[in-house]
Amino acid sequence: MRRFLVAGNWKMNTTKESGAQLAKALVTEVPEENQAVEVLVCPPFPYLTTVGDIVNGSGVGFGAQNCYQEAPGAYTGETATEMLTDIGCRSVILGHSERRHILKETDANINLKVKKALDAGLQVILCVGELQSERESEQTDAVLNTQMTGGLEGVDAAAFDQIVVAYEPVWAIGTGLTATPDQAESAHQYLRNWLKEHYSAEIADSTRILYGGSVKPDNAKELLSQENVDGALVGGASLKPDLFIPIIQAAAELSAG
Ligand code: PEP
Repeated sequence: MRRFLVAGNWKMNTTKESGAQLAKALVTEVPEENQAVEVLVCPPFPYLTTVGDIVNGSGVGFGAQNCYQEAPGAYTGETATEMLTDIGCRSVILGHSERRHILKETDANINLKVKKALDAGLQVILCVGELQSERESEQTDAVLNTQMTGGLEGVDAAAFDQIVVAYEPVWAIGTGLTATPDQAESAHQYLRNWLKEHYSAEIADSTRILYGGSVKPDNAKELLSQENVDGALVGGASLKPDLFIPIIQAAAELSAG
């Protein structure tokens, strides 16, 4: 059975102090021996060590929102995977729609980062998802296929214990619009089938596929109860303990049956 993962993407938000308070609130609420749900927070780079020190030894992990594909060297402004592992960071979000559409990252850029992060032993949360116009023109599956093919090119089956896929329809991110449970389930089914066709039935079965896009306490349970939804990547609601904790609890209740 796949273990739920609830990950918070803080994006370019918080201060050192508010991020520390948020991390402390989560540590208090998430039990140390938290087997039911994997919980992860992804703060901005300047606060990674502050948050990492707070969550260290707790049931909450911490990850980065991006990385660079080269070893440390002359790459002004970038962050190496070696630096992330050096501070105990265990995960990285790659291919987020804001990086694809605002920072103009291509599937080829993302693929280089995915391979480097995997080599570094990091858990990779690879985000894929269609624009509203692509959904309206029935291009969703084609877009997911392109992003999965491009993002995972050259990645072999052995790396899949480090890979999580996040389906994040771009039209639902930060907009308050949420995919219906049926829309989410159908995209997740497509992605699981994609993994089966391109890798194997075992990999399709064991790889977690998260849903992201305006997940809130009031829609979390219904989304997470879809057969192929294995957790949530949460933006806005991950910045408030009173919104994020109920999402973790929804996952915990579902995994308890
Ligand atoms: C995200 O940033 O990955 C995200 C899903 O944001 P939000 O929950 O705010 O839609």
